[in-house]
Amino acid sequence: MSMISFRKIFHWGPLAALAFMKVVTITTVHCIRQWWPPEDLLSYLNFYGFIYLSGSSLYYFITAIYEGPGFLPLKWHPKNKEDYQYLQFCKICEGYKAPRSHHCRKCNRCVLKMDHHCPWINNCVGHYNHGYFTAFLTCAVCGCCLSTFNLIAWLLSLISSQRNFPLPSSYVLIIIIFAIGLAIGVVFAVGLLLYHQLAGILRNATGIEDWILEKAKHRRHGTDDVFINPYSINKLFNIKQVLKWHCAADGDGITWPINDGCHQYTLTIEQILQKEEKRRRSRKYTVISPSSGSWLPVTHGWRVFCHPPLTTEPRIKLDIDDLVIVTRWRRHWMFGEKQNINDNPKTRIRGWFPTSCVIEVIENGMDSSENSKDENSFNN
Ligand SMILES: [Zn+2]
Ligand SMILES: [Zn+2]
Repeated sequence: MSMISFRKIFHWGPLAALAFMKVVTITTVHCIRQWWPPEDLLSYLNFYGFIYLSGSSLYYFITAIYEGPGFLPLKWHPKNKEDYQYLQFCKICEGYKAPRSHHCRKCNRCVLKMDHHCPWINNCVGHYNHGYFTAFLTCAVCGCCLSTFNLIAWLLSLISSQRNFPLPSSYVLIIIIFAIGLAIGVVFAVGLLLYHQLAGILRNATGIEDWILEKAKHRRHGTDDVFINPYSINKLFNIKQVLKWHCAADGDGITWPINDGCHQYTLTIEQILQKEEKRRRSRKYTVISPSSGSWLPVTHGWRVFCHPPLTTEPRIKLDIDDLVIVTRWRRHWMFGEKQNINDNPKTRIRGWFPTSCVIEVIENGMDSSENSKDENSFNN
């Protein structure tokens, strides 16, 4: 275990998750032993079933952190030079992005088959830890179901007259009620995440790819052209790619089994076209009143305050005369990238700011799109 991966755990996410697991496990074991101690087959199954789920949650949680998603080697490029044109280039890793790889700003690397960056494991979920992560979610949800059942049964027998154990101290009672809340919270919140993970595994599309596929469909709306997910071969195959007893991933995370009629770069070409389209739609704005970059901006009026963009994407600080390339518009907010004077990709500033801070730049009566020169090459 290297020092770098050891540091992964000393972060609020994993530490909080471990503390929650400990609280739920200790209180549940305490309550089961008081309320329904393991004496016959059913009570054995209840008690050791819970111990098994709790232990497995911890094991898969730690493995998902230390196994990690797998990173694309720095300066990676495909063997064949002709394939360069089908891939996006990552200026930070100074290499091409392999199919299904995306750059994670938190990990600061291109991640193989990136699904999402999970703060609870302080790591990305990607190619190599997808199976462990899904197993962790499953064990955590099942364990917390069993825990909720036992803790509530303990609480009910405490209230009723059939109590066969001594009265707890108020301190213990408070911890147990807290643990019930925690266990129920996990069942719903993690249960929802597990549901989305399983649905994504069935479709063989990561969270990011769902978004790309959605846009691909939208782009073809009203035409006969149907975009199919090149990685989704059939449901059974898709499941087997991630869910198996040993949880370890197949393949190198760079080349993928694909559908008939598709090739390795079907999705990456679509991504490039989507990016071009986005660039063509983008507009340049100049800042007329400064934006504080605050999540709760009180100085921009109540409309801005009451209609925040519902996303965890950053809010950016802007000063008068800054230039911003805007790609997304809401009524009271805009999303864009601050124009970078030194063009250093490591200091890109992208995020949301109040609409009232900027006005559009009209250059020579033409639209301000940066890439109007290649307007014609992607007109269909
Ligand atoms: Zn990268
Ligand atoms: Zn990440």
